[in-house]
Amino acid sequence: NRYVAVRHHVEGSPSEDDFEVKSAPVRWTPESGEVLLRNLYLSVDPYQLNRMKLHNASHRTVDPVVPGERIDATGAGEVVASACAEYEVGDVVAGLLAWEEYTLFRPGPATLIAKVDASSGFPLSYHVGVLGTSGMTAYGGFFEVGKPKKGEKVFVSAASGSVGSLVGQFAKLSGCYVVGCAGTQAKVDMLKDKLGFDDAFNYREEPDLKSALKKYFPKGIDINFENVGGEMLDAALANMNTYGRVAACGAISQYTDPERPAMPDMGEVIYRRITIRGFFAYDFITKFQEYVTIIGDWIREGKIQVVEDVADGLESIPSAFAALFRGKNVGKKLVRLA
Ligand code: NDP
Repeated sequence: NRYVAVRHHVEGSPSEDDFEVKSAPVRWTPESGEVLLRNLYLSVDPYQLNRMKLHNASHRTVDPVVPGERIDATGAGEVVASACAEYEVGDVVAGLLAWEEYTLFRPGPATLIAKVDASSGFPLSYHVGVLGTSGMTAYGGFFEVGKPKKGEKVFVSAASGSVGSLVGQFAKLSGCYVVGCAGTQAKVDMLKDKLGFDDAFNYREEPDLKSALKKYFPKGIDINFENVGGEMLDAALANMNTYGRVAACGAISQYTDPERPAMPDMGEVIYRRITIRGFFAYDFITKFQEYVTIIGDWIREGKIQVVEDVADGLESIPSAFAALFRGKNVGKKLVRLA
């Protein structure tokens, strides 16, 4: 069983050299109650970097990754052996797997792995992204935390990514005005031309983010879907309307730059009566099926465009993961295993 591990704890931006492909024997015959999967798609996600740091104090809720050992990751796979009555060879599942070729798991309430409805007709990769954690994050974060109302003005950072690309489209479906930012002109064009954002800009080309946002939101921001943190959050807060909401999803700029933590200007928060609420995707796990049904219908009706960026082979995981922190991915980054 080949798997990808970190060689050492990672500080700052990750690079391919921080990782190695290792190998361990596969137990081909599961013990009673166990199921063996051959993994078909694995996800790379920004949060995983926080688990690779030596001091991941701000992320106490997830266990740190141990150098040399397997790394949890969401994905999808096919059952190749089963000693569990509920699973048959050939069943397809999605959920929390690991960066490895084969995953052995024991189904139960604590396992975040479930069978995929093969009759849905969606590509398997969708069950890892738009109909998996990314969709749950975007839907729960936008609707439950952002609480949008028709006509409100929404700002989405890291808007061309897995979560941001969905949030912007959900905002349009809710009758909101939405502007996103991303790090290249091609991504900006995609946001406007393909995903229907009202406007978009390249944050790398804006010398002053506060005035950039002032330009795009002359009447202020009602909902800030925050993926980036740091200066981006500061700039958004300074442009928010009274009683504005921040759905605090992520702070990717801070994952690689511990010297630059977001320091929200509390004067802005108080003066503008802003609510900032953080959330985890899994806060919405009890509503997951409901979300998947709604998002699935929107995809079928052509109301949502799904953007995926797929690399091939287990050995491409390190470069695919590092690419997230350099803005080299467009939409949901996945690795397809042969
Ligand atoms: P993405 O697909 O958005 O990939 C990351 C993107 O972030 C890159 O493509 C890049 O795009 C942008 N980025 C990277 N570094 C920086 C930087 N220093 N400054 C500004 N932008 C940067 O990832 P996801 O959609 O999976 O995740 C987006 C955010 O949501 C992350 O912060 C993640 O941690 C968070 N998240 C939180 C979850 C939760 O449960 N709360 C669950 C899932 C994700 P570009 O620079 O071109 O804009």
